[in-house]
Amino acid sequence: MKYPALANYIGGHDVIPDCETLDVYCPLNGEVISRVPLSTSTELDAAATNAKEAFADWSARPIRDRVQVFYRYKQLLEKDRHKLAELVQEENGKTLSEAGAEVDKSIEVTEFACSLPQLTSGEVLEVSRGVECRSDYHPLGVVACITPFNFPNMVPNWTIPNALVLGNTMVLKPSETVPLSARLIAELLHEAGLPDGVLNIVHGGREVVEAICDHPTIEAVSFVGSTRVAKLVYARSSGNLKRCLALGGAKNHLIVLPDAHEEMTATNVAASMSGCAGQRCMAASAMVAVGKTDHIVERLVQISREIQPGLNLGSVISKEAKIRIEAYIDEAEQAGARVLLDGRHCKVEGYENGYYVGPTIIDGVTPDMRIASEEVFGPVLVIMRAESVDQAIQIENGSDYGNAAAVFTQSGGMARYVTERVSAGMTGVNIGVPVPREPFSFGGWNESKFGVGDITGPSSIGFWTKLKKTTSKWNPEARTNWMS
Ligand code: NAD
Repeated sequence: MKYPALANYIGGHDVIPDCETLDVYCPLNGEVISRVPLSTSTELDAAATNAKEAFADWSARPIRDRVQVFYRYKQLLEKDRHKLAELVQEENGKTLSEAGAEVDKSIEVTEFACSLPQLTSGEVLEVSRGVECRSDYHPLGVVACITPFNFPNMVPNWTIPNALVLGNTMVLKPSETVPLSARLIAELLHEAGLPDGVLNIVHGGREVVEAICDHPTIEAVSFVGSTRVAKLVYARSSGNLKRCLALGGAKNHLIVLPDAHEEMTATNVAASMSGCAGQRCMAASAMVAVGKTDHIVERLVQISREIQPGLNLGSVISKEAKIRIEAYIDEAEQAGARVLLDGRHCKVEGYENGYYVGPTIIDGVTPDMRIASEEVFGPVLVIMRAESVDQAIQIENGSDYGNAAAVFTQSGGMARYVTERVSAGMTGVNIGVPVPREPFSFGGWNESKFGVGDITGPSSIGFWTKLKKTTSKWNPEARTNWMS
């Protein structure tokens, strides 16, 4: 094994639990690179207790002091960008440049966190003569963060900088499929001066997640992963009267109109479908081609043919994922769809045991097919045909999900017509992956998100804090009024 078996990270120390373990694979070549503990409620309890102890000192520091750690952390992320990206690539299978972009996004959210002292100064107003009301933000206490496999560095960083700068302490439960990056994040934060116990890591799967949802010390739970598990986590933690924000899966539609710029559209759609091997919650997985758009589809197929697994296309996460994705393609073909570009049974020379699926484009898909409505999470694009813009919008609106949607057109009026009517939290115009960059908040609608607010940006401040409202009167001339 290239890396030693992982320990939990509790109170600033590596703690090896006495529990079952799971092999960690490198999806590029199928080799076992480490082992991850499948911790139980006992380890979670130890982490929550340490986080609670650390809370007293950390939350008492002024935010201007807390934020200094994150100025240093940002510099360390920049210095170690390559090392962090290499580890992401190794455990997740994406390309090195995609892994580097993931670290860049972590840097960007950390920059945002560094601006939190400016954004959380609170409010004050003289509400009647001599009587002043002020409101200020207070941290919640111990919070938890549960993350998925597809962004081992970025998704933990969606929450760590904001939640910690705002004064909370945290238990992080990384995906057991990609647990290595979290340890490196903790090392950098330690080097940046984060006190022991402020960030704790407990590895594992379902058992730890359920223990998080049930633990009385944990005040809030953030979750990113599939809709199936998001619903379980949301129901269980809010059933235990905790705050919860649970981001789920996606089926993102790109509506392509006949006047769309051919090259720009084909390039963007291909990149959105194939980037990170289609394992992004913002990936385009359904294109709705309106009217005469065959020329764009042809160019899209040409461009996608140039995408080479092992070169500019990474692997998918596991053998099971490869089998599942290929089964979706088989089923669509059997249902009458036309596979224009076929990525099944793909092998990369020198990486024969890697889990690769080539770029796949399937035309003639109808909304009733399973591949049209379910999240495939691979480099697979289905094309549905629509006769009018309204029909395309109707197809998009029919999805249970609502993470992202985009329109490709050269008409500002049509772009506005579509973005106003699609049922998605993040919309794009001539952009295949309409991720709102900082300082804008990230979060979808419908079954792509459960809970109030978004996970990053200004919207996250409300999630990670509670407001205290104080009303004061110091001078006798204020006399009394209906308040007192
Ligand atoms: P997943 O739901 O399988 O796992 C996510 C987390 O939940 C992991 O930490 C895992 O250990 C835990 N978990 C798994 N099964 C559980 C169970 N039965 N009970 C309790 N906890 C459980 O998701 P994944 O496969 O790791 O990630 C891919 C999914 O994440 C996709 O659906 C993707 O769209 C979604 N995702 C969404 C966003 C977003 O912003 N909406 C971002 C990234 C990924």
